[in-house]
Amino acid sequence: MLYLLGNFSLTDCVEEACKKLRGTFFSLVNSGINNYGLNSLTSKTIYKTVVIPRALYGSELWCDLQQRDLARFEVAHRFCLKYMQGLGIRAKTNLVYSLIDMKAIEYEIDKNKLRLFGQLCNLPCDKLAKVIFVNRLTSYEDNPSIVHGFIPDICSILRKYSLLRVLEQYKQTGTFMSKFQWKQCIKINMCNYEQSRSREGSSNDTLSNYIDISSSPSILWTMAIENRSFLKMCRSTVKVIGQYFYSDYRRTCPKCGIGTETLIVHILYECTLSEPHRIKFLRDLLTKCGEDILTEFVSLGLDTQLSVLFGCIDTLQWGDVNCQMFMKIAVAFVHKVGTVYGVV
Ligand SMILES: [Zn+2]
Repeated sequence: MLYLLGNFSLTDCVEEACKKLRGTFFSLVNSGINNYGLNSLTSKTIYKTVVIPRALYGSELWCDLQQRDLARFEVAHRFCLKYMQGLGIRAKTNLVYSLIDMKAIEYEIDKNKLRLFGQLCNLPCDKLAKVIFVNRLTSYEDNPSIVHGFIPDICSILRKYSLLRVLEQYKQTGTFMSKFQWKQCIKINMCNYEQSRSREGSSNDTLSNYIDISSSPSILWTMAIENRSFLKMCRSTVKVIGQYFYSDYRRTCPKCGIGTETLIVHILYECTLSEPHRIKFLRDLLTKCGEDILTEFVSLGLDTQLSVLFGCIDTLQWGDVNCQMFMKIAVAFVHKVGTVYGVV
């Protein structure tokens, strides 16, 4: 049963949903899902299966959603994602999403509406909801300007994800694909849309040089799932990555007092006081990964070395075993330096 708020205000509905999103998330946080206890990917699973469905209950009927309402919702969503990854409030949006492989809340709302559309198309013809749906669809066809609500909304979403052909086919034949096929179709088309948008958005974005904007979570989270003893070090590394991208992060080294444009580069590569940690890191690489990998790593440019330290390791073709070993040594190094310099 859906309840509309007394004044039928969509803004109030969104406000209520934002409260539910944060409220449910933090009630779970307080019952054990905290910054230090759970891997972010586990938190993500609970967030996707419990928190989001509760907050978005009834969102299929949020038509004509204003950008300002959506923006407020995105802020609440990002706040939860930052918290579960231990990222600061100023962490870059692309980074917050790409590290854990999550998408904007708008994506989830669109998905709910597309699923409802499929359910309506597949309803038997004698159901009242189906009769109203077909009636509204026909009216919209005849005169788009007089129909408001779900139909124009879903047409716009179908267009956005290149799915209008599905509606055209339904109008022509009266048949629709199975529930499973429609779910797959939604997944593929939404994924294609997100990937093309990421590619467009990343062309001038330095973030893409360091963080792999792909459809899978960072190795920092996946390796901590496989071996829980690395969770703390992986969390530290994620915090260091987050701070690397703070544009206004403090610029004086807390140890040597030297002013620096990029503090994270300074503490990892330049500061004389972190040299013993760098030497240990390189020695560990030599003994555990071998001379070839050490030589290849040190011959990379500074930016590439940083991106590899931050988990973008796939392009190096070192093989799974060496990549895993390298990342274990890398997160230990970044965690140690981050702790010594008080940035994690
Ligand atoms: Zn220094």
